[in-house]
Amino acid sequence: MKHRIKDLFYKHLAQTSDTPLAIEVERAEDIYFFDKNGKKYLDLIAGIAVCNMGHSHPEIIHAVKKQLDKYMHLMVYGELIQQPQVELAEMICSFLPESLNSVFFVNSGSEAVDGALKLAKRYTERKELIYFEKAYHGSTHGALSMAGNDTYKNAFQPLLPDTKTIRFGIEEDLLQITEKTAAIIVELVQGEAGVRIASAAYWQKLKKKCEETKTLLIADEIQTGMGRTGKLFAFEHYHITPDILLLGKAFGGGMPLGAFIADKKIMNVLTHNPVLGHITTFGGHPVCCAAALAHFKLITEPKMWKNAELSGEKLERILWNIPFVKEIRRIGLMMAVDFCDTQTNFHTLKYLLEKGVFSDWFLWCDSALRIAPPLILDEEHLNDIDSRISAK
Ligand code: PMP
Repeated sequence: MKHRIKDLFYKHLAQTSDTPLAIEVERAEDIYFFDKNGKKYLDLIAGIAVCNMGHSHPEIIHAVKKQLDKYMHLMVYGELIQQPQVELAEMICSFLPESLNSVFFVNSGSEAVDGALKLAKRYTERKELIYFEKAYHGSTHGALSMAGNDTYKNAFQPLLPDTKTIRFGIEEDLLQITEKTAAIIVELVQGEAGVRIASAAYWQKLKKKCEETKTLLIADEIQTGMGRTGKLFAFEHYHITPDILLLGKAFGGGMPLGAFIADKKIMNVLTHNPVLGHITTFGGHPVCCAAALAHFKLITEPKMWKNAELSGEKLERILWNIPFVKEIRRIGLMMAVDFCDTQTNFHTLKYLLEKGVFSDWFLWCDSALRIAPPLILDEEHLNDIDSRISAK
């Protein structure tokens, strides 16, 4: 009887690996969650870059409850005027460059990627799509076609045709972008590759090449957006504007929500020939939009991304105290603590979990700890992390 729920978890839930953590969660608040036995875990990954305002934020919960009392799902996306969607779209656009003024709501990051790829092909009337080595953009067929990892992809071939990969941060590869290219999809900081950062000069050259060849630049900010890197959006670090911006993860304030955002003149091609060329039943669900709006207000007043930079620097100093760390790659509160050795990383993860510090590794970089805590990290949290890590 005692382990009934665990048995049922293994019996009835499809498993993504043979080694799930299988911690039975009771509740979560602030930067902590608690298991059934009352053990308190300090969450250093925020549901993988999702819960930027921490867990169970009362204002987000209040917004969800308020919307639940009004209406939940009414009609497929795009037909009825639903206030949470409209308010959220207006709010987000007010923080974006003028050319990013039309928001298409979907349910997840992968769906935002798929929608953007369709949009780019349709708008440019070209077929070729370019992505980076070690890129990760999601697990649907379209998004997986843009993954820069052949081992991961090969089992699922055939994927999208007319795709090409180039090396991240290498200027000479930009010559691969030509008049045949519909779009290049980029993570401005590569997440699953283990936090890989390129220079502003590189991004500006890439943008110039896109302009010269009329190739659309799709910025996947599903992981880097919403203040994670020390700016509201990572493209602000590099002084470039993408043609299509992708949001997901933290965007929904803990609820499932994604979006692709572009200029109305680009977005309009999905409206005609064929009409209803891209549709979704649940995209922009009103309860998710209400949560996202509350979350957006919380991260913009005050500017939480400033704390991401401040606390990020302090946290990095603490994390250097973990034995055998060889390198830390960091931008804001997005960090890879690299041991340059997989076994050491896995031992450290286990050791940290015993101390109640919850972290993870990266899909394409299993020698490094993933660090992406909520952006609300303060001195008290930092002291707690420090004492847990150094406790014998
Ligand atoms: N793009 C990036 C950069 C991501 O990190 C992820 C998720 N890790 C995705 C897309 C896919 O998002 P989702 O899991 O919501 O489909």
